[in-house]
Amino acid sequence: MEKIKKLKKFRNIGVILIVIDIIAFAGAVYSMMYISNTSVSVVLFVVSLILWIPGLMLFLPSKSKLRGLCMNCGSSMVGCEYEYDETGRQTDDNGNASVTIVYEAECPNCASVKKFYKKFSLSYGTNTERNVRKYAEKYFGK
Ligand SMILES: [Zn+2]
Repeated sequence: MEKIKKLKKFRNIGVILIVIDIIAFAGAVYSMMYISNTSVSVVLFVVSLILWIPGLMLFLPSKSKLRGLCMNCGSSMVGCEYEYDETGRQTDDNGNASVTIVYEAECPNCASVKKFYKKFSLSYGTNTERNVRKYAEKYFGK
């Protein structure tokens, strides 16, 4: 559980840094266009450049590590048996068809069920079947 808490904390700090980063960048652009205060723009721009790195470094690895863990006990779920099934098909206003897949797996350690949904495109030329499997690999490995 400690592991999960730590990863969630890293991920959340990463998100906060990225949000501050985007605000700083928008502020830099805004002050350049409307206030023409160069020093303010430069400071904000530098802040946004610097924050990207720790933001992404905290966010991306912790997010991908959390995927492979049981949210209940923190055990790894890589390599465990999983099932997936189609839950529905949709077509948007532009005629793009998509399918929603539900994934389910039982934690080998505590038997709690990890369940999540993901929408996939059914557009012509899209290998939906492969994308569905690839997505599961992000959580459970090959
Ligand atoms: Zn578990």
